[in-house]
Amino acid sequence: MRRAEKESAAWRDPAIGLAHAAMESLLTRRILPTPENYRVWYLYHAGTHATLRSDIDARLARGEALDEAAMAALHARHLAEEPRAEALGEVASKLENSLGAAIKLLEGAEAGATRYGTRLADFSVALQGSPTKLGAALARILADTEELCRQSRAVAQHLAERARETEALRSALAQAHEAALTDSLTGLPNRRAFGLALAAALEGPGPVSVALLDIDHFKRINDSQGHPAGDAVLRGLAQCLRDWLRETDHAARIGGEEFAVVLPRASGAEAAGLADKLRRAVAAERFLTADGRGRFGVSVSVGVAEHVRGEAAEALIGRADAALYEAKRAGRDRVMQAAPAAAVRAA
Ligand code: GH3
Ligand code: MG
Ligand code: MG
Repeated sequence: MRRAEKESAAWRDPAIGLAHAAMESLLTRRILPTPENYRVWYLYHAGTHATLRSDIDARLARGEALDEAAMAALHARHLAEEPRAEALGEVASKLENSLGAAIKLLEGAEAGATRYGTRLADFSVALQGSPTKLGAALARILADTEELCRQSRAVAQHLAERARETEALRSALAQAHEAALTDSLTGLPNRRAFGLALAAALEGPGPVSVALLDIDHFKRINDSQGHPAGDAVLRGLAQCLRDWLRETDHAARIGGEEFAVVLPRASGAEAAGLADKLRRAVAAERFLTADGRGRFGVSVSVGVAEHVRGEAAEALIGRADAALYEAKRAGRDRVMQAAPAAAVRAA
């Protein structure tokens, strides 16, 4: 197709224009056009996925190279959880089908019962007639009674099956719901679950703090040890979070190598103290090198912020993120506390 024709086709159908734009972005950046990478750029150009778009824009503004690793991170962060939503839809439609079948059966049974009622009425008329007619009517009613019994048994059996099916679907639905809030690599709650936990904590009594953790120079670990070893570090960090946090704290993996903790009833200073314990525990961990012969350590930087009355959740996260950035800037492997509440209010 010549360029002019291509453009006019794109005008006719916006989806074709988006497809071209997505492919062009992939090709000019020399990114492999895998379905995942294509989807990221298609949605970017479509502009329908606001967080994905602003993430890419921010990376472009920082002059970051959108290489394979960055694409994997973008996909994992914004799109990987989506198929789980489809799983929920699938369960719902199975449930609908199952109920539809039960309703049809009940309607059939009702029609059978109505027919039986008519037969009974006929029989009562026949009772007043000749003995031959009475005999024939009796035979018919016996046959109908048998048929109705058979139908009732079938309905009962079918309903019992539907009840079992509904129970299985109910538990599948609960599992899908759980999966939609869980990060599959580490088993920790995901970004969505973190948002819910934070909102719930902000409704509760006492101070609430948030800690954002980011593994230091994680790209280097992937580069030198390989992606599977990097994944093992992510799982190890998740375990440190489980081991070191209080039962009431909610830890989540909110991005590639980024973790977040909601600490209800913890002041900024208490949260920072806990985060530092965690930081030291992580630094003491040893992970197996790719060849399985050596061991290596990792460090994390942490930003902590205490919620200010009336502050929106996003603003609180923004302050913790700024503190995390400070921790990185100051040399990494440390915990930084966000500016105190009063200073923020005055600002
Ligand atoms: P900094 O200390 O400034 O945080 O440097 P960094 O290298 O940790 O940060 P950067 O954002 O440059 O790199 C993050 C890396 O995390 C890039 C990406 O390949 C990697 N990553 C993201 N998700 C995953 C994952 O699920 N598994 C693995 N192994 N790596 C991941
Ligand atoms: Mg990071
Ligand atoms: Mg990092």
